[in-house]
Amino acid sequence: MAARILEGREFAARFRADAKERAAALREKTGVTPGLAVIIVGADPASKVYVRNKNKACAELGIYSEVIEMPGNTTKEALLAQIDALNASKKIHGILVQLPLPAAIAKDGHEIVNRISPAKDVDGFHPVNVGRLVTGEEALVPCTPHGCLRMLELAGIEMDGKRAVIIGRSNIVGKPMLHLLLARHATVTICHSHTKDLAAVTREADILVAAIGRPHFVTADMVKKGATVIDVGINRIAPKKLVGDVDFAHVKEVAGAITPVPGGVGLLTVAMLMENVVQAAERQLIK
Ligand code: NAD
Repeated sequence: MAARILEGREFAARFRADAKERAAALREKTGVTPGLAVIIVGADPASKVYVRNKNKACAELGIYSEVIEMPGNTTKEALLAQIDALNASKKIHGILVQLPLPAAIAKDGHEIVNRISPAKDVDGFHPVNVGRLVTGEEALVPCTPHGCLRMLELAGIEMDGKRAVIIGRSNIVGKPMLHLLLARHATVTICHSHTKDLAAVTREADILVAAIGRPHFVTADMVKKGATVIDVGINRIAPKKLVGDVDFAHVKEVAGAITPVPGGVGLLTVAMLMENVVQAAERQLIK
């Protein structure tokens, strides 16, 4: 039997509606509109599209937004000064620096992210938020894995006591996903490019998360019958063709539930960013 398709737009619509309602409630209570500032350095075309989408989502949900465009030759010092100004701004509750940074300052990525006030770190990349996620305190959680977790919850996928396997150990997806699933009492294994006999591990998974960045990497023989397969990968294989890390056409015949690409996890990320902005504003204004 073919798998249940977990459509990103349905879940994203729920997350957006929640964020919109919470933003309105906050405005009613405090008179303040939650605000997001996105800093973009240089003219990477994909980054410009992402920033435009974030801006549009803010407008739709009643969130104030500012885009700060800085030239490609911006120095680390100038960028840090910009972050300091936003840290001090009363209008801004969430700050993110769009990645990737230009090569000349990319090596300073940690220092730049760490300059953002943890309270305003809506990407959830600051070590304080990472630490809170690991120890189970309230944290701003990276948007993509957070969206995956919330989707699993809303879809009614059981996590407690289940075997979860994540392929990919990045700070943005794989590692936070590990902690989110652990907190839901799954038994979690994280695999990566040095893992031996990967397919033997993935075949154990009741929940399989692919965050690799390789088209159609996960094939049907790597998936246990009835498993839930979450495909985080976004791979452009032709100018107008995006595919995931999972061989969707074949894996959907084995899996119990699966996310498509496009139309799956990718749609959750901006919705979760909106939720993080509202969460950050709530904490700054009323908690
Ligand atoms: P990354 O390059 O930082 O990490 C990739 C991981 O895959 C690494 O940990 C690596 O060890 C692992 N890997 C690579 N080759 C492997 C192999 N042969 N076997 C096992 N593991 C292997 O990537 P990332 O930032 O985590 O992103 C992963 C994918 O998710 C990319 O396609 C990216 O575009 C996508 N992504 C999507 C969203 C979204 O909004 N949906 C957000 C972030 C990332």
